[in-house]
Amino acid sequence: MENRRCSRPRTWNRRDPQASADFAYQVIEKGTIADTIRRYPIGRTLFSTPNELEMHEGSLKPVREKPTREELLSHYIHFVLDHNLKINTDEEVTNIARLETEGFVFQTTRTTEYAQQSQVSYEARRLVFAIGAMAHPRYLNIPGENLPKVHHLFVEPYPYVRKQALVVGGGNSAAEAALFLSEEGARTTMAIWREDWENRDPKAGAMKHWVRTPLDREVAEGRLRVILYKEIAEITENEVRLVTDLGETLSIPNHVVFVLIGSDADLTLLKKLGVKTEPGKLTEVPVYDPETFETNVPGVYVAGHFTHARHIKAAIDVPRRIVPLIARSLHRELIGTGASEPRIGKTQI
Ligand SMILES: Cc1cc2nc3c(=O)[nH]c(=O)nc-3n(C[C@H](O)[C@H](O)[C@H](O)COP(=O)(O)OP(=O)(O)OC[C@H]3O[C@@H](n4cnc5c(N)ncnc54)[C@H](O)[C@@H]3O)c2cc1C
Repeated sequence: MENRRCSRPRTWNRRDPQASADFAYQVIEKGTIADTIRRYPIGRTLFSTPNELEMHEGSLKPVREKPTREELLSHYIHFVLDHNLKINTDEEVTNIARLETEGFVFQTTRTTEYAQQSQVSYEARRLVFAIGAMAHPRYLNIPGENLPKVHHLFVEPYPYVRKQALVVGGGNSAAEAALFLSEEGARTTMAIWREDWENRDPKAGAMKHWVRTPLDREVAEGRLRVILYKEIAEITENEVRLVTDLGETLSIPNHVVFVLIGSDADLTLLKKLGVKTEPGKLTEVPVYDPETFETNVPGVYVAGHFTHARHIKAAIDVPRRIVPLIARSLHRELIGTGASEPRIGKTQI
């Protein structure tokens, strides 16, 4: 879930070169621990089951069948605290380059609690990019989208009770936001493409049935309006102008807009290192070996939601599989160079 960066093993253990504890590692996270989960809507229930989310078998014990955002967040935070994991939060990786000899140098910007910023430079032999796919929320790119009432993230429905809310989007995030808003008394309209509304195939990205069923009930009971749209033309202070899929232009009164049409990873740093990318099923993905998750740039690995192995289960499983492989490759490298001390470098610049 964070940018995991591994360097040469700190305590060299010949009997167990695969042990991840042998790594001198540092995680750099620009937000908080489990930042993406922290940014889920307040009180949201996960669609995954505890066994797909927990760090150790049987360690996540939600009150109901599936955990809430708060239960999962607390589970991950306590895992980090209990194991004293080396995660620097509020620190963003801003630049990376290959060293002429071997390994990589990367710069970060660290924000202190008093909002002061400092630049830090590190060196590492291996890099694992686990940067997620939330960096760039998608925009409609229409007039009015920069108004303060337009949001690209949904947090909670309570500020919008009895207000006119529009949700644009066709996936689970949009459907959940429309449902929460409607259930909690916002006068909600959902603008969705016909193909998304009519999609009932879970394998083709249809809304989860436990979202769809109550959503249909809100519609049937007259609390939620669904507009099958072709284009959102303009957002103004008090209205949204859109064109329906039948070509009719509608102006609907409006206080708040949620544009929830997905987001994309920021692949800039990876590309700068020379990592190749390709079109994926949903978005651009890095090219990597499906066994090792190493990219075409030796020593640079990828894991998590911006690869083909999406969702939390894979974001946990893949690093569990590849960290021992990284340990082995470091082991081979150290034997080759005869080195014995780690060469992780950190210089305040
Ligand atoms: C509303 C919502 C609901 C979801 N519900 C579910 C669910 O029920 N079940 C499920 O399995 N999945 C769900 N997902 C998807 C799930 O959140 C992701 O699959 C999961 O978070 C992926 O983990 P990750 O480690 O790949 O990325 P992330 O959890 O996104 O972690 C990547 C981290 O990298 C950090 N980062 C990025 N760039 C930099 C940089 N340059 N420097 C430093 N740090 C950086 C980010 O701040 C972020 O914290 C949901 C997603 C959303 C948005």
